[in-house]
Amino acid sequence: MVTLYALYLNCADTLSEHGIENARFEARELTRFAFGYSLEEFLREKQRIVEETALDNLVCRRVQGEPLAHIIGEWDFYGLTLTVTPDVLVPRSDTEVLVDTALKLPGTRFLDLCTGSGCVGIALAHERSELFGVLLDNSEAALEIAWKNVKQHRLESQLSAVLGDVCHAPEKELGKFDFIVSNPPYITLQEMQELDVSVGFFEPTAALYGGVDGFTFYDAILNRWLETLNPGGAIAFECGYRQARDLAERMQGVGLSNIEIIADTAGIERVVLGFRN
Ligand code: GLN
Repeated sequence: MVTLYALYLNCADTLSEHGIENARFEARELTRFAFGYSLEEFLREKQRIVEETALDNLVCRRVQGEPLAHIIGEWDFYGLTLTVTPDVLVPRSDTEVLVDTALKLPGTRFLDLCTGSGCVGIALAHERSELFGVLLDNSEAALEIAWKNVKQHRLESQLSAVLGDVCHAPEKELGKFDFIVSNPPYITLQEMQELDVSVGFFEPTAALYGGVDGFTFYDAILNRWLETLNPGGAIAFECGYRQARDLAERMQGVGLSNIEIIADTAGIERVVLGFRN
């Protein structure tokens, strides 16, 4: 038998020995999860005597590459805790710059294409009560998670979830939007083979793979979905670390103007913004 705190420290050491960065944060999350504690309860119960083996199973799953978010079933994005399952991409902090960019756009009605967990649209609606959005995805399982997250944050009156495929023309009933946000699958065939186990093996391929050159979904959206934008409306995409310039050119090629490339907090060109005339 050991104290909860000793168990947590032990867990952090094991994770760190297996090359996991942020080992203390991950150990804390695993310990909290194993005992069903909030952060506050974890801190309060540090001296509680517990079984030495209480975390073995979770630690084993984690060191084999399963993402922490899948194990604990939730992940934080833009200050909101969201439910996450293997059916959706784990929200990345890289994507927060897409939210920052969209928050500066005029208008109130937006479309979030390839919404996945719903993280982008949900963060927008949560930040601004005057925004109304449609979250669209081609995966029913993903939409279920997105809607669960909408409800969890009581945003049902601002958001709706619609099953749809960006590779097909939009349904007329969707109406018009002031701006579109999208973090579509954009990983190239080459990059798919180089992904970390925790991404490539555990996260949904459908949410990652963007076709051989990574541009399949950008091209589909640019060719079919701009007609849903009101005149003067904007579109903001997240893209991969080597795609911004190429994407900006494609956006210019379909007649978008005032194209802007915006870097994430790591200095990587992460978002490309353009406007319909
Ligand atoms: N940013 C994700 C990654 O690095 C990919 C997200 C996407 O394809 N939209 O794995």
